[in-house]
Amino acid sequence: MSAVLRLENVHKNFGESPVLQGVDLAVAEHEVVALIGASGSGKSTLLRCVNLLEQIDDGRIWLRDDDISDPRVSVDTVRARIGVVFQQFNLFPHIRVLDNVTLAARRVLKTPRAEAEATALALLERVGLADKAHEFPDRLSGGQQQRVAIVRAVATSPELLLLDEITSALDPQLVTEVLDLVRELKNEGTTIVMATHEMAFARDIADRVVFLDAGRIAEEGTAAQIFGDPQHERTRAFLSRYL
Ligand code: ADP
Ligand code: MG
Repeated sequence: MSAVLRLENVHKNFGESPVLQGVDLAVAEHEVVALIGASGSGKSTLLRCVNLLEQIDDGRIWLRDDDISDPRVSVDTVRARIGVVFQQFNLFPHIRVLDNVTLAARRVLKTPRAEAEATALALLERVGLADKAHEFPDRLSGGQQQRVAIVRAVATSPELLLLDEITSALDPQLVTEVLDLVRELKNEGTTIVMATHEMAFARDIADRVVFLDAGRIAEEGTAAQIFGDPQHERTRAFLSRYL
């Protein structure tokens, strides 16, 4: 089966610092991949390269059959195919929840407003936030804002969803509602790559866990393999901090 996403020997440097040092990764349709690793290991950079927020220095990145690392690629077209949620500051504060959710569909995909709003309202309804549609983001809790950000990311039916530590800025009691939504998306077959430090969640939801160490994939496997029987000394050292 062809991969939704494929990274081949991806290198990324910031100045003199090599941050990604030859990453190879293929993500299959409907697969959920958890990226774990110490702070600074390159998780966010990897996700940012996939979303073309950073340009890679060597290697290739494929979104299905399209080489999106080709500098001639249309960045907007690629981004319309990939949903992204970051740690924080996701929503545009000056526009209402509904407009946040419909913006990409209207601007990039040129979906008529009424149609985009109907889709957005149905999604907000599903996550129990339809009554917040006309609020500004700052009237919502952090957990509600992140759920809106996720809804916004999937409103355009992207082929791939990238999640970067989406719960790390939340109060602990708000984490569950966000993770429950991710689990629902997985159950619907969404293809997801998520950087996370929620090891219990990764263990629970990920089809595959990838341990990144200083810009290299040191070890990958099923959640049971990585959490139950890590092979690499660095993986063991990293995981021991979460036990
Ligand atoms: P992680 O998400 O795993 O914590 P990052 O991808 O954020 O790691 O960072 C990896 C390394 O790249 C770190 O050493 C970080 O300081 C560096 N880095 C990230 N973004 C930049 C940038 N825009 N300019 C320079 N260095 C950066
Ligand atoms: Mg990060």
